[in-house]
Amino acid sequence: MSVRATQLLAGLGAAALIVSCAPSVQSARDGDDEVVPGWKWTPEQIDRTVNAVRAGRSLQPDVWPNGARVAVLLSFDVDNETISLRSGEPTIGALSQGEYGARVALKRVVDLIDRHEIPASFFIPSESLRFHPEMADVIKRSGRHEFAVHGWIHERNSDLPADVERELVERAIDYLTEATGQKPVGYRAPSWNFSPNTLDIIRDLGFVYDSSLMADDRPYELDAHGESTGIVELPVEWILDDAPLVNPRGNSYSAPRDVLTVYKDEFDVAYEEGTMFLLTMHPHYIGHRSRIVILKELIAHIQSKQDVWFATHLEVATYVKERAGMMTSE
Ligand SMILES: [Zn+2]
Repeated sequence: MSVRATQLLAGLGAAALIVSCAPSVQSARDGDDEVVPGWKWTPEQIDRTVNAVRAGRSLQPDVWPNGARVAVLLSFDVDNETISLRSGEPTIGALSQGEYGARVALKRVVDLIDRHEIPASFFIPSESLRFHPEMADVIKRSGRHEFAVHGWIHERNSDLPADVERELVERAIDYLTEATGQKPVGYRAPSWNFSPNTLDIIRDLGFVYDSSLMADDRPYELDAHGESTGIVELPVEWILDDAPLVNPRGNSYSAPRDVLTVYKDEFDVAYEEGTMFLLTMHPHYIGHRSRIVILKELIAHIQSKQDVWFATHLEVATYVKERAGMMTSE
């Protein structure tokens, strides 16, 4: 993440160096094609870069529905084969590892949460669903879950020109609407990063919330250049993501039961502080036999506490907007 964030910031900074007030320019280079390090920027250039997309006011409500102490949001990013395809250099082995997500893991995950009547949000790259349209039926079975946008083919949106990025999001909305019967109003950037244009795009296309950024534990409003946007941010964190932790080839690998301890500790403090616990998982990781135990035991831990509100991301975003008096913009 830090590398990607650095690239984005450097890109925006270079924009400030080359063309003033042109936050959509992505080049991180000066006239000699050299990266311009931050210490050479002016304070104004730094401010413009930092303020392009920023956390605005907190949308933490004074009370959660039915007097709950904490909101619990489970996300599943159904990436499957798209992780390997997006680079344009897929391997047959990697594609098969992704295919496991659709063939085996998704059903295992959905069976577990449905058994506990827990709602969740499924962020699905469109191509992932096109390969395995039957996944929509599995997810829809309970009538409890939400479908949301996660790119067309998990493209690196932060590297794309504005028109291409926008077109892929539009196609993703159309495809998910057609395939699931629900128009998605939640967005998660494929690699949890924004291009300089992402916020404008999701605003224009009518998204209610984003869930890709990390400035808080609580919901907040996204600001663009110091102005509020009406977009709710439901923040994520790499700590609360199974992908880097439970993948044995990941460079942050931890034993599954150690990961469970991290998630329990995160939940316990969220419960103590009365805020929000949002966990991102991927069926092709968490759905393996030795990993589903993390989710199973985490659910048991959370359900051992009183006054927990399990909700989809959209339910939470809608609720916090209402409490903050933001509904008029819709
Ligand atoms: Zn993803």
